[in-house]
Parts: sequence; C-alpha cells; structure tokens
Amino acid sequence: MKAAVLERRGVDGVIWRDFPDPVPAEGESVLRVTASSVNRVDLYMRDSGSGITHTLPQVMGVEAAGEIVEAAPGSGLEPGTKAILFSEAYCGRCRYCLAGDQPLCENVKIMGEHRHGGFADYIAMPSSCFFPLPNDADLVAAGALMTGHLTAWRMLFGKRALRPGESVLIVGIGGGVSAAALALAVRAGATVYATSRDEAKRARAVAAGAAGAFDSGGDWPVTVDVVVESVGPATWDRSVRALRPGGRLVVCGGTSGQTVELSLPRLFFKQIEIIGSTMGSYPEFAAVTGVVAAGLSVAVDEVFDRADYPAALDRLAAAGRRLAVLTNSPTERAESGLRSAGLRSCRLRAGAREAVRSSRIWRGSFPSGALAPRRGNRLGAASVCDGAGATPPLSSSATPGSPAASYYCKGSVRQ
Ligand SMILES: [Zn+2]
Repeated sequence: MKAAVLERRGVDGVIWRDFPDPVPAEGESVLRVTASSVNRVDLYMRDSGSGITHTLPQVMGVEAAGEIVEAAPGSGLEPGTKAILFSEAYCGRCRYCLAGDQPLCENVKIMGEHRHGGFADYIAMPSSCFFPLPNDADLVAAGALMTGHLTAWRMLFGKRALRPGESVLIVGIGGGVSAAALALAVRAGATVYATSRDEAKRARAVAAGAAGAFDSGGDWPVTVDVVVESVGPATWDRSVRALRPGGRLVVCGGTSGQTVELSLPRLFFKQIEIIGSTMGSYPEFAAVTGVVAAGLSVAVDEVFDRADYPAALDRLAAAGRRLAVLTNSPTERAESGLRSAGLRSCRLRAGAREAVRSSRIWRGSFPSGALAPRRGNRLGAASVCDGAGATPPLSSSATPGSPAASYYCKGSVRQ
C-alpha cells in the first residue's frame, strides 16, 4: 500500500511511499481509508515525538474514516460498511478503562503516535475502535471529526460539564479544537466569546454564533464561567483574569509555550479551577458523533490529495490551521463532496484542491429538529443528544462496535 511514512525528524522527514499492508492482530479489523485530517500532533511527531513511545519508520495520522474491508470474527462489524475510527487503542483492563476514561488508559496506543496511523491506504485497529456509519455519511467530514471535536467536547462537557446559563471564552479561535468548541458551546445555548489576532477569524467567529470576538493581544471586556485555553503563556494571565469567581480554566495545549506563571492569591481568592484535558473517552466520542449526526456542521478548510501530505503539514505549520483533510483518490473526493449538504458551491474536481467551508455527516438520516436544542433555550449539553427521552450522552454503557448514532440517539434514528 501507499502511506505517509515518518522516516526521520525534520521538515523533510515524511515521505509518501510504498509500505507493507497492515496485518491485523487478533480482534483487530481493517479500514480502507478515505479521509484523514492534519493535526498539530502530526507536526509534533514530525519534529520531535519526544515522550511518545514509538519506533521509526511509522505511518502518520491520528484520524481516519473509510470503509471496513476486513472484520474480525465476532466483532459485529461488516465489510463494506463505512466507519470512523476512535484513535485510542485502549486496553479495556486498567482502572481507567474500567472507569470509562480511555484517554488515561495505562496502556493506550494512539494511532499516528504509538502505532501506525491513518495516512495510508489501509489501517488495522482493535474492532472496538470502529464506529460504523450510515451509507450516506460524508467521509470527508468524518475524517475531520475525531481529534478536534472530541477534545472540545471533553473540555466543555467532560469532568466539569457546562451548565445552563454559563458563558464561555475561547482563546485563539481558528484551529480545529477551538472551532469545534465554538460550534458545540453555541449549540448548547451558552453565551460564547472568542479571541484572535486575525480580524477575519474574529468575524467568522461572530458569524458562527459568538456573542463577541476580541483581539487576542488586547483587552477582553468580559468575565466568563469557562475559558477554553490552548495558547499558553501569551494569553494565560488574561485568561485567568477573565474568569468569574468560581470559574474554570480548561487547558488542552500551549501553542505559544509550555510554561506559565500563576498568581496563587488569584487562584484561591477567586476559587478558580484549572483543568487539563486531552482527547476524550469512548462514550464521549459516541456523544459527539451523535451531535454531529444531529446536524452540527464540521468545518473543513481545504481538501488535499494524500500524496500532498508533506505540503499540508508545511501549510499547517505556517498558517496555524488544522482543518485540512486528505483523501485517497480524486473519485472519492468528488463523490464525497457531492454528497455533502454544505458543498453546493464547491467544485471538487478530480485532481483539484478545493475549499470546503462546511459539510455534514449523515445528511437526512435524522428527523429535523428532533435532537437539536435551540439557541437561547439554555439547555445543558447533556440534553443535546437526548432525543425522544433517550439516554444522556455521557452514559458509560456504550457497546464497542455498535453504531454510535443508534446508541446515543436511540428512538430518533432512521436508518
Ligand atoms: Zn486501559
């Protein structure tokens, strides 16, 4: 098969080349990859990889959506079914897995970090990591869903869930996580603000539902209940100051550096909470895919041919954007684009690079409005996927390999 292979560290370290087909271990199934998106972790793996146990050469890519071509016996999966991968191969035995908190698994192997990733013709993963999708799923959008949306979901609705009436400030809008956080928080009915140094990004944030957007380098004239932070030292002090007493600062990264200073009196007098967050759990992934299934848009900036992966990485490094998706054939790019509700003005020609501004997964699969809380009704996130009195989305009883949407939106799915 062909794959984007990390041969060595550095800007010229990734090569699109022949690579041995994956050989599934017991209990693993194989996905033929249609789309996978570029993330900042790809840059980290290319340039450092420090602290992540792996060996070179390694196939890159922490996301993948495509079609099942080989299903493990007893997995319940069917060849020919579309699927998206949960990128964390978790052990299922440690105390964290038993508590349903897979990102903390003591033995986790994340694709594209600890094991071969999704920028390849094929990938093998434990069958429990396969989320089957309906036949009309848009795999381009699915290929951009895992990392950004799951991380954002956990930040907003994880250990300390957003409550009705609360406000959110998203610092440094523009990347995959922050864009997903904006969409999810607006969808939940929160009052949302954003910051960016880029005026165009601020305008896009307001157009996407933000109540206000401010220059990241200036004053932020708001106080909020929750700050979503991924910038680090460049904005840290103002992020802390923007919190109301009792507020919480949720951190998933530090693009401007790794170390910050914290005023301890501000911490204890205001009784604020600082929460670290990364990726998300299996039940959280089922929940966020259910919300996307209910109509939440997945923003994608650009679609590349996968052979252009090194160029997409360079563009990500230069522009700080993540929302590029790479697909494995011109035909699939075209077909996937034509199926998407948001692609009416987009011309996905064979061999062309086209901008995709908005697309949706599972168009037409759900009754309109059945699962969607309306802006202003102050619904908490736990209600987002609670269609027809179904189970709240963060239940830990999701069945590995079961259709996520069917589980989390049971009673509301037409398939
Ligand atoms: Zn585990």
